[in-house]
Amino acid sequence: MADSDKSFKIVLLGEGCVGKTSIVLRYIQNIFKDKHEMTLHAGFFQKTINIDGKRVGLTIWDTAGQERFHALGPIYYRGSQGALVVYDITDNDSYIKAKNWIKELKTMLGSDITLCIIGNKSDLEKSRVVTLEEAEAYAKSVGAKHYSASAKLNRGVQELFLDLTQRMLSNS
Ligand code: GDP
Ligand code: MG
Repeated sequence: MADSDKSFKIVLLGEGCVGKTSIVLRYIQNIFKDKHEMTLHAGFFQKTINIDGKRVGLTIWDTAGQERFHALGPIYYRGSQGALVVYDITDNDSYIKAKNWIKELKTMLGSDITLCIIGNKSDLEKSRVVTLEEAEAYAKSVGAKHYSASAKLNRGVQELFLDLTQRMLSNS
């Protein structure tokens, strides 16, 4: 962005319904909705933050729901410095899908991209099927970092964007 010292593109990836749009709306607008209209918030969001004395512009790309048709590819994530690969802690399939995305990003972009794996819906701890230990160990094994979040309760969301931005700055 024009008035910032640095700018980064961040993409959201993950299965439908894991909470990608909810995470970005929580971060940018501090709102949460129980039902999202799939097409309503398609596109990208921008935010400028001050960090370590620098103005950093973030452009966060959210999907228009194409993940439901397996129709997201390099055109979407090319040129991004950060990726938030989201799964739902109550849905093992979404975790497997997240691991597939990580593999694809590593193959396509190598170490040019800073990878985050987000276990969302941490408010639903009672229905958790993906253990934190497993997810953290996996993240570590692929050079990514794991974060737990609840877009609903606003837990971990600000923290993960801040940490990702600091990691992108040190990788740049
Ligand atoms: P997307 O398809 O990945 O963009 O997912 P959405 O953001 O549209 O969210 C899908 C559904 O999960 C919606 O009904 C949200 O209200 C719900 N949801 C999103 N984040 C959370 C969360 O942290 N906790 C709970 N309990 N529900 C969530
Ligand atoms: Mg969405």
